[in-house]
Amino acid sequence: MKILVALKRVVDYNVRVRVKSDGSGVETDGVKMSINPFDEIALEEALRIKERGQADEVIVCSIGGSEVQQQLRTGLAMGADRALHVETSSAVQPLTAARIMLKLVEKEEPGIVFLGKQAIDDDCNQTGQMLAALWDRPQATFASKVDIADGKATVKREVDAGLETIEIDLPAVMTSDLRLNEPRFVKLPDIMKAKRKPLDTLALDDLGVEAAAELEAVSFEPPPKRGGGKMVESVAELVTELKNKGLL
Ligand code: AMP
Repeated sequence: MKILVALKRVVDYNVRVRVKSDGSGVETDGVKMSINPFDEIALEEALRIKERGQADEVIVCSIGGSEVQQQLRTGLAMGADRALHVETSSAVQPLTAARIMLKLVEKEEPGIVFLGKQAIDDDCNQTGQMLAALWDRPQATFASKVDIADGKATVKREVDAGLETIEIDLPAVMTSDLRLNEPRFVKLPDIMKAKRKPLDTLALDDLGVEAAAELEAVSFEPPPKRGGGKMVESVAELVTELKNKGLL
């Protein structure tokens, strides 16, 4: 069984995000970029499934400009076997990403497609669900535990009411939640080894997917600055302060 894992390049989660001075987007020049943290968790889980002998190959894929190859190389250094880069200079929205991933799925025929539950840049939380619908296969989103046996996956999901366990037939789409695992650190020898692993680039046009922009971002602005906090001495003072602000 192959496992296909989607890795999106995003502004590193430790970076304080800044809006460009002309309000046209988020500043990425000179900013540390990383694999979306949920995608790193998805990759870690795929690698663990392979290490348990339940998968033969882990393939990482990313959609974007040539710069996403950095994140693919990191994925290869973590332990993925090979990488697929779908090259496009256009901004990729979830439906386009799902359509592109469907093409990769048709080409590779994986047993599991693992994505992050959401990309921390736009927080859409849509691509995995859309891919499952387009592929017409089951989905297990927000996974916090995954067990594979007899062509099925038993997945514990983090839902609003707590935890839910479902069983789905493979092939299927899964998306990772935060508590699924703790991704491994990449070691220097693995970075060297990753340079020799296969990384294929596919042109978006050759896949026959149009990078249609269904959504248009009109302008970006930073949230208003927060006012200073105030320390209170007692619950009574807290209640008075809240009442003064019209919050109680
Ligand atoms: P989203 O629906 O935008 O929150 O993204 C959910 C997940 O889809 C991400 O965590 C990635 O696993 C995957 N994904 C979305 N866009 C891309 C992309 N351009 N390249 C690779 N993976 C992507």
